[in-house]
Amino acid sequence: MDHETCIGVLGGGQLGRMLAFDARRMGYRVIMWTGGNDSGAARLADHTLTDTFDSESAFLEFTNTAQLATVEFENIPSKLINRVGTRIPVMPSTEAVSICQDREKEKKFLRSQQIPTTDFEIVHDAESLRIALEKIPGDVILKTLRDGYDGKGQLLVKDDDTRLTAAEIWEEFGNHDAIVEKRIQLKSELSVICARGQDGETIAYDPAENEHRNHILDVSIVPARISEELSKQAQKIAKKITQSLNYVGVLGVEFFVDQDDKLLINEIAPRPHNSGHHTIDACETSQFEQQVRAICGLPLGSTRLIQPAVMLNILGDIWSAPTTLPDWSAIHKIPGAKLHLYGKSHAKPGRKMGHITCTAPTLEEALANVAAIKKIYGI
Ligand code: ADP
Ligand code: MG
Repeated sequence: MDHETCIGVLGGGQLGRMLAFDARRMGYRVIMWTGGNDSGAARLADHTLTDTFDSESAFLEFTNTAQLATVEFENIPSKLINRVGTRIPVMPSTEAVSICQDREKEKKFLRSQQIPTTDFEIVHDAESLRIALEKIPGDVILKTLRDGYDGKGQLLVKDDDTRLTAAEIWEEFGNHDAIVEKRIQLKSELSVICARGQDGETIAYDPAENEHRNHILDVSIVPARISEELSKQAQKIAKKITQSLNYVGVLGVEFFVDQDDKLLINEIAPRPHNSGHHTIDACETSQFEQQVRAICGLPLGSTRLIQPAVMLNILGDIWSAPTTLPDWSAIHKIPGAKLHLYGKSHAKPGRKMGHITCTAPTLEEALANVAAIKKIYGI
């Protein structure tokens, strides 16, 4: 591919923005079809289509302009991904994305590969929910099969919650088809960002240790404070998934670590991942550059961690008003702290507005710097 190659990106969020940033730096052009998402991501692309995903004219323009396409968000209509795939190569493949879009397909795929997941049952009504609750003892979490992110579409049902019958829980959940998952007593949560190139080469970054608040990623700590053996095991599983999906591109694999140090896969994301944002400042190759390399048929880049890093997500909660930016001067005074804002015009509680990565010679220093930032902003 020459440098005039144009990459088509479906979706218009921050992941697309950071991808466009690296792609353009590397000499590619980018056309982004946001589907109507006005997030500020598109401002970094060469061409932007803000039409909804059912627009015929946008479809033609997108597929006439781009020589290849990728998704920056998995909840793009699979019909559209399929259709784009009839005109230009889509990486990762429609099939891989559709597995990641649907929690039932995802879990069944992992099971078919003998990769451990949480116990689960798929339910379609109050009666199948009642049976599932009998089969899975203890606390469970109900999740929508599709379109969930940042904990949206989830309901925790406690074992000792005798107030609710299955019919009432079904009603409260909204009468949706759902997956019922055993709630794991987590020792920790990890993720591995990995990638597979067009020639089948696979690479994995060092696992990140992730802490969530209200089901939303709060901080990612790298290197994760786990044994070398667990780290290797997680990387091996992540690479195996990319192989069995015949995947091309960057894949984010989320793990639960249970009380016995056993790894269970929570979910997989067919794209760069929030817990891989530290790679921009702390690794030899960022996960976004890696995505460009993989889908454009370049050799994959080194995943080496140059310095320990802690990434802190910045949510809209710290904006005093939807369009009033917080004062960032405290961050700029901290050595090794890097602010990344996503250009979103309106802040809302829970909305990801940016992140900060603190790198330092030791993990303790990076953790201390993030703790100081959290204190300043009351988060
Ligand atoms: P999302 O698509 O919103 O990221 P996840 O399934 O990853 O959904 O859930 C978000 C977070 O909720 C997880 O990272 C974890 O902290 C918690 N969680 C989800 N499922 C379970 C489970 N079965 N047991 C324990 N915690 C869970
Ligand atoms: Mg998740």
